[in-house]
Amino acid sequence: MTLYLKDDRFHYELENIMRMFFWRPEIKAGAPEEGEDGFCFAEAGSTVIAGEELLSVEFRDGDKKIRLEDTAAGTAVEKEIEQKMAVLMYRVLSEVTGRKPPFGVMTGIRPAKYMADLVENGMSAADAERLFVERSLVDPAKAHLCRLTAETGLKLREHCDDRGFSLYVSIPFCPSRCSYCSFVSKTVEKDRSMTGPYVEALCRELSYTSAITKELGLRMQTVYIGGGTPTVLSEEELKILTGAIEDCFGAPTEGEYSVEAGRPDTITEGKLKVLKDAGVTRISINPQTANDEVLRKVGRKHTAADIERCYELARALGFDNINADLIAGLPGDDLDSFRHSVVWAAETLKAENITVHALTLKRASFLRETESELFSPEAPGMVDFAQEELTGKGYVPYYMYRQKGTVESLENTGYALPGKECLYNLFIMDELQSIIACGAGAVTKLKDSGRNLIERIFDMKYPQDYLQRFDEMLRRKDRITEFYSEK
Ligand code: SF4
Repeated sequence: MTLYLKDDRFHYELENIMRMFFWRPEIKAGAPEEGEDGFCFAEAGSTVIAGEELLSVEFRDGDKKIRLEDTAAGTAVEKEIEQKMAVLMYRVLSEVTGRKPPFGVMTGIRPAKYMADLVENGMSAADAERLFVERSLVDPAKAHLCRLTAETGLKLREHCDDRGFSLYVSIPFCPSRCSYCSFVSKTVEKDRSMTGPYVEALCRELSYTSAITKELGLRMQTVYIGGGTPTVLSEEELKILTGAIEDCFGAPTEGEYSVEAGRPDTITEGKLKVLKDAGVTRISINPQTANDEVLRKVGRKHTAADIERCYELARALGFDNINADLIAGLPGDDLDSFRHSVVWAAETLKAENITVHALTLKRASFLRETESELFSPEAPGMVDFAQEELTGKGYVPYYMYRQKGTVESLENTGYALPGKECLYNLFIMDELQSIIACGAGAVTKLKDSGRNLIERIFDMKYPQDYLQRFDEMLRRKDRITEFYSEK
């Protein structure tokens, strides 16, 4: 299917909408040829009727032909015209495909953050919810989920301190690669010898960075060690890393210290003890699903029983805040099996945090290379079930984000029992404070609320480059000092 754009003004927005309906559309500038078939044609501003720009979207594919029109109606604001074009295209494509992606024309923004911002700026939550439905064609149930998420998030925003930051530490190694994942991680099957030098370099980066934050008088509010799979490191390496974090930055002022333990094939009692002794308060042990057949199919080398054993181990060591990631739409999974996974995570694992992801297939994932369709008709019912079941069990949604390439254009939502929410997740997703990040693939995001500005500093993406170009990369961190002195 080809999308023709008569002018380039709304390219980004309209391409995003087209991609919600069609797998790999071709995007072309200009107009279709006379007699051409199999296209969607968006035209704005070429025709002026009674002084108003005519906006139109036309679709033709065999018997399916539809054209909708609107006018710019006196607005000279580009954003408004873009919104009208997006609505036209969404309506046309919904009609021809019979599908209604649940977030309507809302693309490229985080819906719950956007709603929280509207409410923080004075709009009532009810009006914001209505605006989502009426203006952006968001499904009413999703608009309500955004509202619930925004309301929890707004309460947590009070923890955010303007001179505070969260520390993110990246461990870009995994035991093996899961078929749906595009994360730039190295598998230790091939690169075990690299983890020692990597941890050593990372400690040097932490030390360099902490000197900067101390000089600026910034306070570390939360810590998050993510990956990859941080627990792929040995006990000794974990001890060195957590020791360096403590020596350099001390304890987080909000008392929140998270580690993605991730996969059970990397978890041992010894490693969990190291984390506990280091003051880690929250870990993730991620099942993705309770269905062993699905786990096998996506290349996860563990079973649901292995997950249960890891939870028991962690509970015995005193971990009382554990996150379980679940994924809706995995190949081979179905609604009944997913329902079981949700109930199992809440009742058997008793996970305090349950994060429900919709499967996202990015360009680099193995699955994407082999699957021809990004289509999982049961995924919407899966995430709806999770919402109903988890809120019914006392969990609250507190952060939400969407990604490109997600099945059925669905959302990812973090649920938690009240008081067990992860501040870091909210701070980063809603862009509430600076995230100072160390390690390969890590991205520091410096936030200046006054100027409504976010500036990014990139660490080297791959561990080899990280080690080879370490000094050059370290110097990028000096920008933190300049940024804060410009504030
Ligand atoms: S899903 Fe997680 S564990 Fe699997 S390859 Fe990706 S980062 Fe590693």
